[in-house]
Amino acid sequence: MLSYRHAFHAGNHADVLKHMVLIQLLKYLNQKDTPYMVIDTHAGAGVYALDSTQAAKNAEFDTGIGRLWERTDLPEAVADYVGLVKAMNPSGKMRYYPGSPYCAEKTMREQDRLRLFELHSNEVKILHENFHKLEAHAAAQGQRPTVRGKRVIVQKADGFDGLKALLPPPSRRGLVLIDPPYEVKQDYRRVADTVADALTRFSTGTYAVWYPVLQRPESRQLPEKLKRLPASGWLDVTLSIGAPAPDGFGLRSSGMFVLNPPWTLAPLLRQLMPWLVEALGEDSGARFTLETGDAPAAPKGGGAR
Ligand code: SAM
Repeated sequence: MLSYRHAFHAGNHADVLKHMVLIQLLKYLNQKDTPYMVIDTHAGAGVYALDSTQAAKNAEFDTGIGRLWERTDLPEAVADYVGLVKAMNPSGKMRYYPGSPYCAEKTMREQDRLRLFELHSNEVKILHENFHKLEAHAAAQGQRPTVRGKRVIVQKADGFDGLKALLPPPSRRGLVLIDPPYEVKQDYRRVADTVADALTRFSTGTYAVWYPVLQRPESRQLPEKLKRLPASGWLDVTLSIGAPAPDGFGLRSSGMFVLNPPWTLAPLLRQLMPWLVEALGEDSGARFTLETGDAPAAPKGGGAR
């Protein structure tokens, strides 16, 4: 039984970290003409209305995108992300929030491919509708085809299993985003097993795993397990907006673990994260951590993989 709905959390601090890193990973891939494939194993609904009953319930976006909306001093990577959200809100009022599929579609190029998995019937229906609306809008503007051109394919399927058949992508360039709800503890094990298997099929791919930073042992063990996988390097960034709430209610901290990260990501985050902590922090417990392991050295001339 799937009960998670991302609409309740859309645009919160965890989405800020995840979507900002996602956009930077794609911008790096954009440096080289060769097409790439983006695979989002847990896509969600694609776009969220922030005035919906679900999103408005706890207004979690207030702890995330809401804190950045009016700022005029955004560092470049944050400006890329906020700019993308603002582009879907041309009235200037913060009404819609883009999920990972939309962030990816708007950042990748015409030659690139997006493969989306979503298991929940209602979410996948909304995801389909959102991409068909995008298609109609693009056609009206004489722009690139999306779904009909097979540039974007939405599948109602288990993303952990579905990923296998897509690896390696034909051009041997690709990014996999793994962002499950972690409502059941099996998700932690499946993430680690899925990435381990994916690396045997596509060892040079970039894998970005979002995870909640919680007291439960599975949450603390996941990054440790991922560090031991045979990738050529890894990066683990976490953002805490404050000390854990005394009642333990509400997510205050999350991480993005990236295997085979581009060499540019660590220096970029080292500069950026203090600013983000200041912008989103709610109390003196606000902090970030940034760890890397066996990071690949910068290639001569700084070329993209
Ligand atoms: N990645 C989205 C974003 O950033 O906008 C949010 C995804 S949300 C955290 C997780 C989604 O995974 C939910 O919509 C849930 O229905 C879906 N889901 C849960 N288990 C799944 C599975 N095994 N395969 C595919 N989707 C699944």
